[in-house]
Amino acid sequence: MCGIIGFTGQENSVPILISGLYALEYRGYDSSGISVFGEDGIITKKVKGRISNLEDKILSEGNLYSECGIGHTRWATHGEPSDVNSHPHFTENLSLVHNGIIENYAVLKKELQSEGTAFLSETDTEVAARLIDREYLICRDPLKALNKALKKIEGSYAFGIIFREYPGKIFTARKNSPLLIASGSIGNFIASDIPAILKYTNKVIRLDDYDTAVISKDSVEIYDKDGNASTREFEEISWSYEIATKSGYDHFMLKEIFEEPEAVLKTISGRIKNGIPNFSAEGISSERIEKVGRIHIVACGTAMHAGIMGKYFIENFARIPVDVEIASEFRYRNPILNKGDMFIALSQSGETADTLAALRLAREKGLYTVSVVNVAGSSIARESDEVIYTLAGPEIAVASTKAYTVQCVVMYLLALDIAYKGKRMTQNEVMLATEPLVNEVSMRLSDVLGFSGYVSDICRRIAECENMFFIGRGIDYALAMEASLKLKEISYINSEAYAAGELKHGTISLVTEGTVVAAIATDASLWEKTCSNIKEVKARGAYVILFCGDNIDVPEGICDSIIKVPHIDGGLSSLCVACAFQLFAYHTAKLRGCDIDKPRNLAKSVTVE
Ligand code: GLU
Repeated sequence: MCGIIGFTGQENSVPILISGLYALEYRGYDSSGISVFGEDGIITKKVKGRISNLEDKILSEGNLYSECGIGHTRWATHGEPSDVNSHPHFTENLSLVHNGIIENYAVLKKELQSEGTAFLSETDTEVAARLIDREYLICRDPLKALNKALKKIEGSYAFGIIFREYPGKIFTARKNSPLLIASGSIGNFIASDIPAILKYTNKVIRLDDYDTAVISKDSVEIYDKDGNASTREFEEISWSYEIATKSGYDHFMLKEIFEEPEAVLKTISGRIKNGIPNFSAEGISSERIEKVGRIHIVACGTAMHAGIMGKYFIENFARIPVDVEIASEFRYRNPILNKGDMFIALSQSGETADTLAALRLAREKGLYTVSVVNVAGSSIARESDEVIYTLAGPEIAVASTKAYTVQCVVMYLLALDIAYKGKRMTQNEVMLATEPLVNEVSMRLSDVLGFSGYVSDICRRIAECENMFFIGRGIDYALAMEASLKLKEISYINSEAYAAGELKHGTISLVTEGTVVAAIATDASLWEKTCSNIKEVKARGAYVILFCGDNIDVPEGICDSIIKVPHIDGGLSSLCVACAFQLFAYHTAKLRGCDIDKPRNLAKSVTVE
């Protein structure tokens, strides 16, 4: 997510910081800023929008020369993208950039406000700046102050900090957000990723979680989690710039699939209190939920498929009827909407034109509107009553992967929140259903990523076909729809998803010798039925690939290839299957030589009808 760059050396840091920020652009951002040492203290320039806006601002406000400074591209998580919410955040003594999320920022902010501290921005980050400042005022020692503050901070962070009274030095710390130190002939750097420094040096040290460090133009000091000085070897990077922006992955899509375990942890963080999912902080109150008689989920494409998953979760846990509809259909068919119904809009970008129009219609009809979006401050987020951010981090590849996964995670949490607030599940039942999400999903997704090579082998057969089917029942049908869309959008193989029981009502006429059929089976209670459907297509010569949970007892000879994922209770194996079929689509498209990150005719954010 977003980017940090810092430089201290014997050249003007300003162009170095700007070029570092440009090199981090690929990570996605909505605003940028820098702080450098000036003659009378720290000078900060920050602005919403493109880095070129920042450049224009710096140029128009006079000559800026400084041999030490920090820079940041922000991807807003707390507080909309705006000049004031942009980083660096500063106090009289220090200036700070941050990547990550301070989970307990609300508590810390209250504490600081009760002591008379005033805040300028809505960000979680400013809380860290003011907390470190408070400690610094007591001890006047930057590292001590930083360590004291870190003890109170929960969440993820990579910090770059400069202190007015310590010119030429950059202080840093990391936990669950990437940060590296680099050393070159002109000076030393901190950066969140290699591309930012590759123009100047290829010697880097990647910091570990809980490390802190101080760099100056000719020194690098690193301290481990116990505060002991630690000697680390520099690693020499041999990457080209192009590879570097993808962190070594061949494509953004693959990189983003591999980010799923972390994205899931980010999305659930701070949203489960004492084992119970809770979106009260997002404004979803018991009083509101108690009145909800029907829920409309509206979205487009992949987000709509996450919406269908949401329907299964909500109806199963909360027993409230849910309609899921394609936004472009919903808005033009004069839908029956009752005041008090809940309307959920799902969109990665938060700018999807049809979903936005559907949201406006729902508001006009007096519905309670909640949006689930990934991009802070986007139109859909701004125009709904409440917004739940999915916190997947920026998604660059056109085909959505990690954003879909965390949309499903949010729908799962929301279903449990609604069930609990609506008194449809007991505390114990909700805790039991939440537990595997907290303790298993991220780990099991990592397991699935581990057999990416195995999936790639299976794709050799698929890469040669021009048509295929995905089948499943229940939640596995919802998955089949997304699997099919993922494959067709990037590999251009014509694929269709069918409810497994529906195939024989027409489409089975297309199944002949060698037709590829992928079956999805995570729900053991439906396995017997799905198994019969597999036998039906097998009997007609289909080549069958089975995606299933490892709880499914698969009879010998029923399929030609099998991709087994770890079983997780509560329907959560679906997330593992999603990860597996995303890899499946990716490898198939790669074998076919397709332009994976930018498939033909497609755009990332569909802002037209
Ligand atoms: N949570 C911080 C904010 O919203 C940092 C976001 C980032 O990593 O850019 O300002």
